[in-house]
Amino acid sequence: MGKIRVLPEVVASQVAAGEVVERPASVIKELMENSLDAGATSIEVEVRGAGTALLRVTDDGSGMDREDALMALERHATSKIATAAELASVRTMGFRGEALPSIASVSEFALRTRVAESDAGTEAVVRGGKLVAVREAGCARGTTIEVKSLFFNVPARRKFLRSPATESAHIDRALEIVALGFPGVALSYLRDGREVHRLPASNSLAARIGDLFGAEDRVQLLEMAPLERDGIRVSGLVSRPGATRADRSRQFFFVNGRAVDNASLATGLREAYRQMLEPGRHPSVVLHVEIDPREVDCNVHPAKREVRFRRGSQVRDAVHEAIASALREARAEWLRPVQTHIAANVSRTFPVAPAAGRHQPELARVVPSAPEARPAEAVAPSAPATAPREGRQPAEEFRLIGPLSERYLLLEGREGLVLLDRAAARQRILFERLQRGVSAGAVAAQRLLMPAVFELAPRLHEIVAENLGTLETSGFAIDLFGGHSVKVEAMPDFLSGREPRRVIEDFAQECLDGGAPKGRAAAEEIVRRAVARLARDAAEPSDQRAQHALVTQLLACDLPYCDPDGKPVMLQFSWRELDRKFGRI
Ligand code: ADP
Ligand code: MG
Repeated sequence: MGKIRVLPEVVASQVAAGEVVERPASVIKELMENSLDAGATSIEVEVRGAGTALLRVTDDGSGMDREDALMALERHATSKIATAAELASVRTMGFRGEALPSIASVSEFALRTRVAESDAGTEAVVRGGKLVAVREAGCARGTTIEVKSLFFNVPARRKFLRSPATESAHIDRALEIVALGFPGVALSYLRDGREVHRLPASNSLAARIGDLFGAEDRVQLLEMAPLERDGIRVSGLVSRPGATRADRSRQFFFVNGRAVDNASLATGLREAYRQMLEPGRHPSVVLHVEIDPREVDCNVHPAKREVRFRRGSQVRDAVHEAIASALREARAEWLRPVQTHIAANVSRTFPVAPAAGRHQPELARVVPSAPEARPAEAVAPSAPATAPREGRQPAEEFRLIGPLSERYLLLEGREGLVLLDRAAARQRILFERLQRGVSAGAVAAQRLLMPAVFELAPRLHEIVAENLGTLETSGFAIDLFGGHSVKVEAMPDFLSGREPRRVIEDFAQECLDGGAPKGRAAAEEIVRRAVARLARDAAEPSDQRAQHALVTQLLACDLPYCDPDGKPVMLQFSWRELDRKFGRI
């Protein structure tokens, strides 16, 4: 007697449910996706008991006639694709025809639906996969699906559910994803009788983010100018530099509206923020990629989260470029001149940065000037002048208010009060200067009058030996002798006056602490470490002239708002924020 038999439908659905319906949040996700596929303009979600008591999704989409409503409950019944070929170009969220029967097989399930052409709607009730009632029902156009007692008949799955708080958090996330994926769809969310969200339909993603996360969080994000290239369109919002988070909970990637995990997208993001992130910090991002669906394989994962791109590296580069240019733009915005009346006032009273010996004006202009207009400024040796890049207009103005303790400078900017961290500013200035030198293949080096010869601890010596090439590109001339001796004949000029032994030891120690730099980014990594270490304790004259020079040089940097480790250099307190704190608005 044969032992192989075809599984009864209900059992097959329960098995499939294991893949599709992992937890209450997956039910919400599948139901909302169906609503979106049905062209809903408004979706209402109600959840009780972290989804185990009740999950209800109501939409105003196309609805189903009686026949379709019953078909929808059959496995592999879908209105979305008919042939295998169509799978490649699928534009809907669903296409497997598995969600409804799966959900219905592990819950007390009710579906109410009506199409526009019919006066009467249909109600179908399913319990643990068995159809128990079909009747006519009066209801609005669209569909309501109600799921009660999820997993009541699969105790094993029920046991695997996490705490209500965790399951709720997953549900919240599923809602956030739809909210951010489809700003044009109104969305309301009721949790245990309390309204969590009521989001109006909006044609602006930025507005939707404001509605969803609040205005405060919204202003931390920059809107990217949409970028279109090679049939790839990238748009969305990203963190302002410095406004990062300790986790990735605010990273949302969408491909044609579908929330996805994908390495190309994550890499594009990470590369755009290089040198702007402290370790352990993550930018927020809501990123939309539009691309021909035939270029995306979304059939990789049952819940369709993971996708593959046919042209992964092009997608990555487009994402990188879109984000990087938003960050560059933000920089320009940040540095736009203070209000014109102040600027006018400034130029009338104080034509340029203050000259030595004269009374120091309280209102002074800080303008990155051409090198010749700034002869031999009294800048700390550790903070060399950064020549403005070609083509940059020196229109960037801040009013220097003055020092705040030894550590900070206070500035008035166009948009509010700015606090500047002097040590961090020095690090940034040095870093860019050196980086520029490195990338141009030459850092200005200074020959020592007397070569320095010294012994290093064996491990440090080894690291110097391993990174000799990188050190040379950075402006060092070093020879290694037998034993653990090192001879330094030249150092990058920004380090002039520093003790060679100490500098080299610091390099090596930094490498040891942070893991020896490897690969393409090695030179940059060495430089960054060295600069961070050296600039931290650099002595700096504290006269007003030096303060001006510091601000000027910082503003000429590419990324003036964070140091090479991503810590902020400048913090801005907007007028709005100040007004609000003082209760004026
Ligand atoms: P899939 O979404 O993969 O097609 P589902 O099991 O999720 O499979 O849904 C089966 C079918 O039921 C869908 O193809 C669709 O025709 C119909 N359907 C499901 N939900 C809705 C809804 N909210 N409004 C209209 N039709 C729906
Ligand atoms: Mg579906």
